[in-house]
Amino acid sequence: MIKARQETQEEVKGHIYEDFNYASDLLQPWRPAGGTLADAATAIITSSTLNREAIKEMVYHAPDNRLTVGRVVCDENNQIMCPACWRDRGEEVLHINFEPAIYIDGNDKHQASEIVQGDVLAIPCSSHQCGHQFIICLGNQKGRIEIFTIINEGWIAEIFSE
Ligand SMILES: [Zn+2]
Repeated sequence: MIKARQETQEEVKGHIYEDFNYASDLLQPWRPAGGTLADAATAIITSSTLNREAIKEMVYHAPDNRLTVGRVVCDENNQIMCPACWRDRGEEVLHINFEPAIYIDGNDKHQASEIVQGDVLAIPCSSHQCGHQFIICLGNQKGRIEIFTIINEGWIAEIFSE
């Protein structure tokens, strides 16, 4: 029987560095300011919970004490900031990504949201730096478009643990 050659300690060390560098490269863009790679992994996992049904439910149920409705917040360059923590963190929270928008029919009967009677175009967003998730909404209210944000303040965590 031919025994597989055992790797030397130096070779094993080399593999660990390779794997670590690979994981580090994957996680780096998700790493919150001052956070670790483990925080980055948490940010990736939580952002995937913003699925289509969760977004529709958030738009429908807001306002709620776990779903704050606010204005869209921009800096002086018209760049969107995290509406949940821009006051505390300033320009730190400009790194925001959006996901595909969802069109929700309101049928002029508040079926999309309590906030507007008509349809809502919902754009899910997340900030990797602070981990907040929010939705930018364009809502039709009798032919006028209202623009607002819905911020998750724990609603998702509670719904998914029910
Ligand atoms: Zn934030």
